Amino acid sequence: MYHYIRKFDSSLPNFRFLDVENFKKQLDFFQEQFGFLTKDEFLNALAKKKLGSAKGKVLLTFDDAMSCHYDYVYKILSKRDLWGIFYVPTQPYQKGKVLDVHRIHLLCGAYSGNELLSTLNVFLNEEMIPDEKREEFRKKTYTRQSNYEGISEFKRILNYFVSYDYREQLIDSVALELNYVFQTAKFYIPVDKLNQMQLKGNIIGSHTVSHPVMSKLSKIEQNEEIEHSFSFLGSNLKLDLKTYCHPYGGFHSFNEETIRALSEKGVAFSFNVESRDICDEDLTSSIQFLPRYDCNEFPFGKAS
Ligand SMILES: [Zn+2]
Repeated sequence: MYHYIRKFDSSLPNFRFLDVENFKKQLDFFQEQFGFLTKDEFLNALAKKKLGSAKGKVLLTFDDAMSCHYDYVYKILSKRDLWGIFYVPTQPYQKGKVLDVHRIHLLCGAYSGNELLSTLNVFLNEEMIPDEKREEFRKKTYTRQSNYEGISEFKRILNYFVSYDYREQLIDSVALELNYVFQTAKFYIPVDKLNQMQLKGNIIGSHTVSHPVMSKLSKIEQNEEIEHSFSFLGSNLKLDLKTYCHPYGGFHSFNEETIRALSEKGVAFSFNVESRDICDEDLTSSIQFLPRYDCNEFPFGKAS
């Protein structure tokens, strides 16, 4: 599993990403140690529910449809005759706005933790924190005064404490106050390029509409996230098969309703994040939450 693969950008001095050169080194390492499975090997394994010749080989996946996946990754893979699976959250295409999860990354890349926290504090009030978290929030904010944790605290407030009802508006306010403009079209892979990538043998899959923690949503909301993302992808690309990837990943990030919805909608396979190889049994019993390693678990894969 990969996310940002980029080169240093001086407008985002604190941005965390995997450097393109390290990505190439990691591909070399995988090639030498394990080899990559072909798309046919992969499709065969899915159809037969047996890994066969795919066993122990590497499959590459890329989440969130950031433009660096076209600018660097797609080009590097093409040169090496490799392919990958690219998971796309569709809201940016439908709403023309950078997802909150990415807006937080960008702000953290552009400003210091103290700048972000002090700006956030201007707009934040306790009503934005759900009752059950308010006590914890108070305790943590009081201790904060002498001990700023900066970036991680800014993220924790927005990702954990603040209710989803207020989060988007808070990020809007912070960005406006700091004069930071998000460039949606530049941030994500344009649709025609997604098409091109698919035509060249890559697989494009759904990563929901808005990249929520699905387990926090109702059954109806979850259904909409899955349904609407596939209908957008289906009407803009020629999908041969449906695949999905759980936002954030980990067993806390989805639930039975998610799995049921995926199966009902004819999704062929889905990826979770779980640090182990795929085995034969997974192709039957864990097909909607296949295990997947983070690239940082292997040499050259650490973000910096
Ligand atoms: Zn994601």
